[in-house]
Amino acid sequence: MPFLVERVTEACVEIFMKRQVKTKFVVVAGGVISGVGKGVATASIGKIFKEHGLRTTLIKIDPYINYDAGTLRPTEHGEVWVTGDGGEIDQDLGTYERFIDQDIPKKNNITTGQIYKHVIDRERAGAYLGQTVQFIPHLTDEIIDRLLEASEGFDVAVIEIGGTVGDYENVPFLMALKGLEREIEPHQVAYVLVTYLPVPGHIEEMKTKPTQQAIRMLGEQGIMPDFIICRSQRALDDVRRKKIESFAHIPLENIIAAPDLASVYEMPLVFEQQQLGKKLLEHLQLSIKKEPDWRTWQQRVACAIKPSTRVKIGIVGKYLDIGDYSLSDSYLSICHALKHAGAYHDVGIEIVWIDAKTFEKDAKKVEQLSQFQGIVVPGGFGPTGVEGKMLAIEYARKHNVPFLGLCYGMQLAAVEYGRNVCGLKDAHTTEVNQETPHPIIDILPLQKQLLEEHQYGGTMRLGSYAATIREGTLIHRLYKDAGKMLEGNVVIERHRHRYEVNPLYIDELERNGFLFSGKHKRIDGTMLMEFAEIAQHPFFAATQAHPEFTSRFAKPNPMFAGFVAAAIQLGQNVIFTQKKKNNTKNLQI
Ligand code: GLN
Repeated sequence: MPFLVERVTEACVEIFMKRQVKTKFVVVAGGVISGVGKGVATASIGKIFKEHGLRTTLIKIDPYINYDAGTLRPTEHGEVWVTGDGGEIDQDLGTYERFIDQDIPKKNNITTGQIYKHVIDRERAGAYLGQTVQFIPHLTDEIIDRLLEASEGFDVAVIEIGGTVGDYENVPFLMALKGLEREIEPHQVAYVLVTYLPVPGHIEEMKTKPTQQAIRMLGEQGIMPDFIICRSQRALDDVRRKKIESFAHIPLENIIAAPDLASVYEMPLVFEQQQLGKKLLEHLQLSIKKEPDWRTWQQRVACAIKPSTRVKIGIVGKYLDIGDYSLSDSYLSICHALKHAGAYHDVGIEIVWIDAKTFEKDAKKVEQLSQFQGIVVPGGFGPTGVEGKMLAIEYARKHNVPFLGLCYGMQLAAVEYGRNVCGLKDAHTTEVNQETPHPIIDILPLQKQLLEEHQYGGTMRLGSYAATIREGTLIHRLYKDAGKMLEGNVVIERHRHRYEVNPLYIDELERNGFLFSGKHKRIDGTMLMEFAEIAQHPFFAATQAHPEFTSRFAKPNPMFAGFVAAAIQLGQNVIFTQKKKNNTKNLQI
């Protein structure tokens, strides 16, 4: 048979065959406006399935043309999330992991850029010879293939479509999902629309009209929602529920209220109160594999909402002066990791953002750090605020304030120690000063080459790396106690950086008390410094990794849990000394 005819015949057979797909799909689309918590709703649905013992995965579709989120500006788009397999991804994958306590690979983030690039690359390579390559079926097929690949082996895949229904850019994805629906059984898909019901201040009434319009726009793609999740300030009342029911033609009980909550982690519980899990399972004809047990989750939520005590943590960062943006979004995973540790220890975490540059302008201002029970120096890039961060590190080191250094935070802690304890004058990282006489932090030769070739996308040291932890150290105790230490004293954390501790300075730093408690051995034998600590300090811990990426609500990361425990300890000491002082005063009176 001539080549072309053979291909066409094969294609026809494929069209008439239903795919043998066992996975069930929940598709979550958003209506009205973005930013109403579609990611949290998706993650909560995933958590509910997992709690019923089902093998669950979560997939995020991002309709932008960027290949991934790695080159997006954190101040505009929020922090970049790093997956275990080294993907630089939109934050939503982070939300999913924090809820369902499961690693989600980079293939679970599908962007328009990836779809077009793959199809065009294949076209150039002659994969579609003779055909006109088109939006339908080539792009839609590619989307379906990726969805099926990501969901293979799972009982259920929850797919979140980024953006809002009605956006031009999410049409290809909705079309693809309709296509997938045709190829599988009707009970294999449930559509969930997450909408927003505003309460305009001047009328004080909850309005359903935007939701009605969102339902209509989804209908234009041939999709009627099976469930509607109504985000709003207050819970939905029966009048609005009825209105939406008659507009969407879905049973009243499938309209789910999702009011603003004190903690996002309460959302799965709010859904369960309305039996969303049971209803979804029935719709998808799925039977449960275990009875859910929400006790730990409920207890953590209770602690997150109403903690017994509080600690004040200062995060000395850099992004404060770039336009109108939310700094906390640039460090979102750190905030969550601190809150996870807080819920675990039943302590409220008050996070205070401190612009590192403040200390550069006036070094005395560093004294303001005395109000904190813990100081975090997070990751970052470039020269801005670097000297200020080092002043903060020096303060924490000298005043015994619990300190957590993350990535750049560890690099700068090493530089600060080199300068002020080892006496290495003008020591620096070559990221900031290439002429420094003591390049304590330097770039690896491979990274140097990539930068020279202007290859910025996806070229850092990314994803999970194993470190061997020295016994008897703080880091060893933290990971061991948390049950996160693998055989052979191995710990795995995720990375996103180019620079490393320069091997030439390791001995000198360690001789002076800056101990590298965890190291990674590269295939070529080079040792990379992964964890550092100072033994004489109550809690001075730093890592080249980003432990915030492996912190989950039900299982806080050991470094954060240890840091918060040390902060509580300091808080108690402060209260104790104050009390003692007061008592003395009383006695004097
Ligand atoms: N700028 C540093 C590096 O590239 C640290 C990066 C980070 O903090 N993520 O090595």
